Amino acid sequence: MVPSPRRIVALGIAGAVLVTLVMHDANAQPSTRWPIHSTDRPQPRVVKPPANAWTVAPPADATVLLGGADLSRWQKDGGGAPGWKVEQGYVEVVPGAGGIVSRDAFGDAQLHVEWMAPLPAVGESQERGNSGVFLMGRYEVQVLDSYQNVTYPDGQASAIYGQFPPLVNASRPPGEWQTYDIIFHRPRFDASGKVMSPARMTVLHNGVLVQDNVVLSGPTAHQHRPPYEKHPDRLPVSLQDHGTRVRYRNIWVRDLENP
Ligand code: MG
Repeated sequence: MVPSPRRIVALGIAGAVLVTLVMHDANAQPSTRWPIHSTDRPQPRVVKPPANAWTVAPPADATVLLGGADLSRWQKDGGGAPGWKVEQGYVEVVPGAGGIVSRDAFGDAQLHVEWMAPLPAVGESQERGNSGVFLMGRYEVQVLDSYQNVTYPDGQASAIYGQFPPLVNASRPPGEWQTYDIIFHRPRFDASGKVMSPARMTVLHNGVLVQDNVVLSGPTAHQHRPPYEKHPDRLPVSLQDHGTRVRYRNIWVRDLENP
């Protein structure tokens, strides 16, 4: 039997609604569908990223936060000179020196970051090559050596820490440069502090899509998912000292609110 045109339209609408619901569910629900740091959550499958060194030079309208051996656009978390090691072409976390914070502040942004986990790899799970990129100092894209190193999925490399595991594990081995390309939309608050729209993130790890416009449940925390708290529209990017000698280079940002 050939379905009537009206029936085809109805099926089409029903399908579109279903797809929309599934997409909404996929993006909005997983951060709270699983307990935080659940080890029962499926491990993202491993995808070998492209073999070429994936460096992306800053576009003309980007602000270069870290060109290489230059921390002039950064300060120590809490104020003062950053205590990280400045080497030829990169900077390196000095365990105990504290995180570093950009002097510039951003809201909606496109952020490119290159990082390298220490070689030889030392430690396991969260102890191996741990650092982090915090948008607005609050919303972390996890940095971890996740090459043949199992941890809880919402804490591995390119996870939105505590909320979203990456779609796949596109890690390179320690000692190789890796990239994050992050598209971030800040949360919007009304005057009373109510969330009008939550933060959203899209992330590519070594050129591979790992976060697809996910909706964050709130700021990053360990072992709990706190609610949003109203904050300024523009805040610095920060990089975490988690006690391991992760390296960074070529960090640039495009301001999506003041193009
Ligand atoms: Mg971290």
